[in-house]
Amino acid sequence: MIVFILSVYLFIGVMLLSLMFVNSFFRGKSSYARALGALCLSLQIYLLGYLMEVNVDTLARMKFWNQIQYFGIPFFPTLWLVVSMLYTGRGKKLKGYKGVLLFVIPFITFLMRFTNDFHHLYYSKIELQYTNNLSVMYLTKGPWYFIQMLYVLFTLVLCTWFYFQRYKKSTGDERMQFRILLIASILPYVSLILVSTNLGGIGIDYTAVILPPCIFMINLALTKYNFLEIKLLARERVFEDSSIGMILLNRFYQVVDFNNASLSYFKWMHANLEEAYLDQILKNNQALLSSIKKLDERVFMFFVDEEERFLETNSRMIMNKDELVGFLITFDDVTEREILKKKLLEMASIDELSGLSNRRKFRESATEIFERALRYDEKISVLMMDIDYFKKVNDTYGHQTGDEVIKEFSGILMELFRGTDISGRMGGEEFAVIMLNADTDAAFQKAERFRKMIAENIMHADKKSFQITVSIGVATCDQLTQSLDMLISQADHALYEAKRTGRNKTVISQ
Ligand code: GH3
Ligand code: MG
Ligand code: MG
Repeated sequence: MIVFILSVYLFIGVMLLSLMFVNSFFRGKSSYARALGALCLSLQIYLLGYLMEVNVDTLARMKFWNQIQYFGIPFFPTLWLVVSMLYTGRGKKLKGYKGVLLFVIPFITFLMRFTNDFHHLYYSKIELQYTNNLSVMYLTKGPWYFIQMLYVLFTLVLCTWFYFQRYKKSTGDERMQFRILLIASILPYVSLILVSTNLGGIGIDYTAVILPPCIFMINLALTKYNFLEIKLLARERVFEDSSIGMILLNRFYQVVDFNNASLSYFKWMHANLEEAYLDQILKNNQALLSSIKKLDERVFMFFVDEEERFLETNSRMIMNKDELVGFLITFDDVTEREILKKKLLEMASIDELSGLSNRRKFRESATEIFERALRYDEKISVLMMDIDYFKKVNDTYGHQTGDEVIKEFSGILMELFRGTDISGRMGGEEFAVIMLNADTDAAFQKAERFRKMIAENIMHADKKSFQITVSIGVATCDQLTQSLDMLISQADHALYEAKRTGRNKTVISQ
């Protein structure tokens, strides 16, 4: 009777597991669904072997079917752990050698069981016994059996721990789901206790009885709340496929996850994402590290293949019920935007005809220099210039020639006053220069040199040549100068004086 009930139970189990295997392995796209499929398959082999074992009557046949079970049994605990790791977001830990390492003990167990007749390390004795009218194969456990048991216990504890962690954090439907997974992960302990203490004593493999409902519960939890799979998949897709680099840190700034895009950005920084902690990863990029920790949004410049590239970083806190659990750091290549910004800024500050700073940019630079001069008590001078009788140039040679004259004049100005001095076109044929570390005398000398250069320079238009002159007003900053406007206005007055008293001359503001 017991054999019959057990056989029906196992048969139904095998059938259900086939369905679950097909469903998870071929339909599920996520890695945990495939692992779950493999788990179903390993359990299916185990149950099928056991079903046959209880239905044959000679020891040799029993031994044969028992061995068949070992195509599934050793790998079952590892797959059980892998499913839990993948489902609770610990998949990265399984990449590379760590994932392979998990299968070492199961594989040895597999080999041990198949070579047991030679060493008896797995089962020290295999004999036939009759209990409750049931002929069962009695197996005396050998040393390796206990190692495998310890390993099973290890995987079970880890698995329960992983589900428990997620269960604690989850809410609503997700909490319900993880509750089911948690129960499913606790049930196998019962079978482990029954098997290792041989309680009950009717010679039934309790693990084979308890595991099918567990797997059924896992399948139920994962498929009933299938929307979660979709949600997880969608998030995974967005995360992996984004051109924005993303790295996920726990609250101790330890890397939990990162996407593909972030790998190339970390190459820009010559940083190694293999390190565990952000402090180690960015030890050579302290500015970036501190900006991430301060949750700043900032743009950083890197040289990639000798080209300037700009990376914008952004950090967000990840909260779970008012508790900080980690950070999401994003990296975005904003090189094109930054180059465009620079170009626009240039366009807005450079005068097109002369190539000098325009009025706005000149005032901006002059303000900076003026404020610094006040702070450090440096001498600065301002030169205001206006081309003499320019209207006449336009009238005689045309507006275009007038433009050419402005260009040539600016070229000479730039040549003489380059370096620390700032020159600008204030409008029409009016120019200004702000000279750093120049007292009245030095400024006057240089202004005179420039004035003479202009006067001696021969301009050409329509095969005719002509000359122009310029008038210059000079003002130097002293204790009475309260503002940049005041300084410029003083130079303007001096320029007016130069015009009034005959032009082609330099006048110092009094
Ligand atoms: P002065 O300064 O010596 O008193 O005489 P001016 O003839 O230079 O007099 P004013 O400064 O009043 O005239 C400036 C003229 O410059 C007026 C305008 O036609 C001309 N002008 C202003 N901007 C430009 C420009 O961009 N291109 C050309 N070709 N001419 C310009
Ligand atoms: Mg003029
Ligand atoms: Mg003028």
